[in-house]
Amino acid sequence: MKKFLIAGNWKMHKTTAEAVSFAEEIKAKNLENAEDVAVLAPFTQLSELGKALAGSGIKFGAQNVHFEPSGAFTGEISVPMLEEIGVDYCIVGHSERREYFGETDKTVNLKLKALIAAGITPILCVGESLEVREAQGEQTFVASQLIADFEAMPISDVAKVVIAYEPIWAIGTGKTATPDQAEEMCAFIRGVMGGMYSNEVADQMLILYGGSMKPSNAADLLSKPDINGGLIGGASLKADDLAAIADAANALK
Ligand code: PEP
Repeated sequence: MKKFLIAGNWKMHKTTAEAVSFAEEIKAKNLENAEDVAVLAPFTQLSELGKALAGSGIKFGAQNVHFEPSGAFTGEISVPMLEEIGVDYCIVGHSERREYFGETDKTVNLKLKALIAAGITPILCVGESLEVREAQGEQTFVASQLIADFEAMPISDVAKVVIAYEPIWAIGTGKTATPDQAEEMCAFIRGVMGGMYSNEVADQMLILYGGSMKPSNAADLLSKPDINGGLIGGASLKADDLAAIADAANALK
């Protein structure tokens, strides 16, 4: 049976009250595949969101973390702080963090290792800009991100990372990669991981597509063999839309 993860990235949206009412709404839908669904929320909402989702099977997580366990890093949140709240997932290396907040492959690599050591599943984002795609450099670019992001990671930890292929030109733009373009890159990523580690490990990995996924295009994207789900921004803000995408994945199991 194909494995899926349908993960909503709320970015900097929703107050805690709004997050809790979303949790009540999505819980009421009694999703058949609740365990395959996760919501990645701003830090201030995590504690209440975790309580509101408790018992539903739906997972939750953060959108970023610092790689040091503690220290003089004003404004940052550590892995032990996330562990205390009981988060399941944490996004690492989202293109918005790479573009606006100085995230580098080096810090991504350190964050992946710190999260894995704590048993929190990282959702690693990779993907090329429009400029790189227009120059047909997407495979070289994404391969170089993967090589740097997984540097010195032991093979036993590799399948603990979820990879999200997110072409930057498709994020929040309404411009979705075609199912064939998304599949081509997700299959390419699996191949790169196979080459770096082993095909057996690569086959166990969850590789998601992200970029303007919504209820109307989810089934076409999710039916592709190398796409194990979605990282969903805009369409994850409404419980009805996230549930519809989760239903589309469930129908393909
Ligand atoms: C994202 O935030 O990772 C994303 C894919 O956003 P959107 O679905 O809005 O394009």
